[in-house]
Amino acid sequence: MATLKEYKAMTYQSLNPATGKLLKKFDELTDKQLEEKLATAATCFETWKHKTYAERAIVVAKAAAIMHAKADEFAQIMTLEMGKRINEARGEVEFSSSILAYYAKNAERFLAPVKLNPKVGEAHMESSPIGVIFGVEPWNFPYYQLARVAGPHLMAGNVLVVKHAGCVPQCAIAFEKLWIEAGAPAGLYTNLLISHDQSDRVVDDPRIKGVALTGSVAAGRSIAARAGQNLKISSMELGGSDAFIVLDDADLEHTVKWAVWGKMYNTGQTCCAAKRFIVVEELADKFLEKFKAALAALKPGDPMDEKTTMGPLSTEQALIDLLKQVNSAVAKGAKLLLGGKRVDRPGSFMEPTILTDIKPDNPAFRDEFFGPVALFFRVKDEDAAIALANDSDFGLGGSVFTKDVARGKRVASRVDTGMMFINNISWSDAELPFGGIKNSGYGRELGDMGIQEFVNKKLVRTASMEAPV
Ligand code: NAP
Repeated sequence: MATLKEYKAMTYQSLNPATGKLLKKFDELTDKQLEEKLATAATCFETWKHKTYAERAIVVAKAAAIMHAKADEFAQIMTLEMGKRINEARGEVEFSSSILAYYAKNAERFLAPVKLNPKVGEAHMESSPIGVIFGVEPWNFPYYQLARVAGPHLMAGNVLVVKHAGCVPQCAIAFEKLWIEAGAPAGLYTNLLISHDQSDRVVDDPRIKGVALTGSVAAGRSIAARAGQNLKISSMELGGSDAFIVLDDADLEHTVKWAVWGKMYNTGQTCCAAKRFIVVEELADKFLEKFKAALAALKPGDPMDEKTTMGPLSTEQALIDLLKQVNSAVAKGAKLLLGGKRVDRPGSFMEPTILTDIKPDNPAFRDEFFGPVALFFRVKDEDAAIALANDSDFGLGGSVFTKDVARGKRVASRVDTGMMFINNISWSDAELPFGGIKNSGYGRELGDMGIQEFVNKKLVRTASMEAPV
C-alpha cells in the first residue's frame, strides 16, 4: 500500500472529483516496457501501411460500433474519473463513435490521388502513411480527443502511440481495449502510461514520425520544440480565450442560452468555451442581468445524476489553480459580480463566476480561465468588439450574436481565430476542421484537413521528354 506522499507523486491516478475518493492508481511503464511497445507499434506499421482502405475501415468502423453499443459503460468511467455530467459524457462517447465512423467511410476519398496539369506529360499527388505517430492528449474530452487522432491517422495507414493525461488513466485504458476488441493488430493503437521525461524520449525516437498534441500552451511549447529539434512534423491544438460577441441587434433570449451553454458545458473546461463575453453598450446591462441569473440558478451535484446542472472541476488541483487565478484578478482590480469561491460541499466544485472591470494591465485580461469563470467586457460598438476580441494572444474560436447573419459573417471574417460561429457555438461535427492560430497552435483536426496532417504528399510525374543538354 502506497503512502499518501507516494500517491501524490504518481502521475496516473483515477480520483473521483465529485467526492475526492481515490478510485485506482497505475504505475508508469518501465523503460523496457516502453521500448517493447514502441517496437510492436513499429512492426505493426510495416503491415498496416499495406492494408487497403476497406481493410482498415473494418477495424475502425467496428471500434465505432462498439463505442456506440457501450456508450453508457464508456460514459460512466469518464464521469467517475473527471466529473463530466453523465448526459454530456454519453454525448461525447456518441460523438467519438461518429468520428471513427466518419473516417472509416471517407478516408479513401480524402486521400485519393489528385491529378495535376503540368505543361508536359502528366502528374499526380498521392498520399501515403508516414509511420508511428505520437499523440499527447488532455483529460477534458477523454475519448473525443483520442477519436480525433485515431480516426484519421489509423485510416491513413499510420499507427498510434498515445500519452493521455495523468488524471484519466481508466479512460485511456478503456480506449486502448476498444481497439483490441475491434480486432486491431497488436501495436495499432497503444496507450502509454509514461512520464514527461519518457515522453521526450518518445519524441526523439527515430521510429516516431510525427507528434500530435492537444493541451496547454506550456505543453505545446515543450513538445513542439522537441519535435522541431528532431525535424518531425507536429500539430498543436492548444488553449483559447474565445470571444463571445453580442451585437446591438442580438436576440437576447437566444444569446443568453448560448452564453450559459458556451460557458458552462463541461463545467467550462473546454478549449473553445466562451471565455470573454464582449457585449455592446445597448445590451450590456440586460445581458448581464439575465446571464447572471441563469448562472446563479445552476445547482452543483453528483455528475452521475442526470438532473444535476453543474458538475465538479476535473481535479482538486484544477480548482485550487482557478481560485488562485480569480483571487489574483480581483487583487489587481477586477470586480466579482458572481461567485468566486469553492462550493461548500465535498468534491472539487467551484461557484459559477463572473468577473467585470478587467483592465488590460490585469493578467486576467490575457490569461485563459479553464472553468466556470466568465470575463465580462462592455464595449461601445461593433468595431470596438472586434478590436477587443483580437487583442488576445490566443486565436482558437469565437462567436458573434446578431439577427443580421450577413453582418455576423462580416464580423466573423474580421476576428483572428481558426473558427467562428454565428448565433451558436456548436463546433461538434466530424466534418468541420478544428484548430487555431497564434498561441492556440497550428494544424487542424477533423474533416478532410485532419487526415492530411500526417501523410506524405508525393508528386509523381510521367513525361516523354529528353533530358536537357
Ligand atoms: P496540459 O497540462 O498541457 O496536459 C495535456 C497533456 O499534455 C497531458 O497528457 C499531459 O500529461 C501532457 N503534458 C503536459 N506537459 C507535458 C510535457 N512537458 N511533456 C509531455 N507531456 C506533457 O493541459 P491541461 O491543462 O491538462 O488541459 C487543458 C488545456 O488544453 C487547456 O489550455 C485547453 O484549452 C487545452 N485544450 C485544447 C484543445 C484544442 O483542441 N485546441 C482541446 C482541449 C484542450 P500529464 O497529465 O501527465 O501532465
